[in-house]
Amino acid sequence: MGVGHAAVALGAARAAPRVNAGWLVFAALLADFLLGVFAALGLEHVHVPPDYASRHYLTFTFPYSHGLVPLLIWGALLGWLVSRLHGSDRPRALIVVGALVVSHFLLDGFVHVAGLPILGDNSPKLGLGLWKEMPLELALETLLTGICVGLYLRFIGSEAPKGARYGIPALMLLLTAATWSPLATPTPPSPPQLIPGWIGMPVLFSLLVYALDRRRVREARMKTIGLG
Ligand SMILES: [Zn+2]
Repeated sequence: MGVGHAAVALGAARAAPRVNAGWLVFAALLADFLLGVFAALGLEHVHVPPDYASRHYLTFTFPYSHGLVPLLIWGALLGWLVSRLHGSDRPRALIVVGALVVSHFLLDGFVHVAGLPILGDNSPKLGLGLWKEMPLELALETLLTGICVGLYLRFIGSEAPKGARYGIPALMLLLTAATWSPLATPTPPSPPQLIPGWIGMPVLFSLLVYALDRRRVREARMKTIGLG
């Protein structure tokens, strides 16, 4: 799953109104960032099915980045780190960031064909295989994105700064297009080509969302302390 992870993070922004959505998006994409890191280290692997040209999906061996138990630990770590930056909002930041890290397991579990392990590659796996019906999966992911961006826009309101109101939906539109793009590419990507994207995309996208959401968060904090 691609844009759906970032969408769920935006949909959850109301639950942590004074945490920048850039942190939330990074939390939801953390598993893919870690996949890139572990793949670069040779500890996790991507496999290209022989019928990639017609199926357009990949399968993975990724127990450390996408396993349920590791994600609970990664979620606790990132949640703790982000909560340290959020003063009186600490418990809320910890819970929302941690839950978003773990949400990656459920969302990927719906779409992946080979499945996501609970703990270790030989443990039971969650993989409902929606990727076998790629156009349907992409349509559902786009619908989820529309709903979650709508929730975010409703939460920030019509008075919110333009960066958050227009910039973030525009970014999500670009990421939606990128999520659909494998459908148009019959040749499978090679693993070395994928690794920089797995590492770089979550960081770059989260930084852009962070920059666009910054003013909105500053105003929300000022309102809380009675300056707005
Ligand atoms: Zn993933």
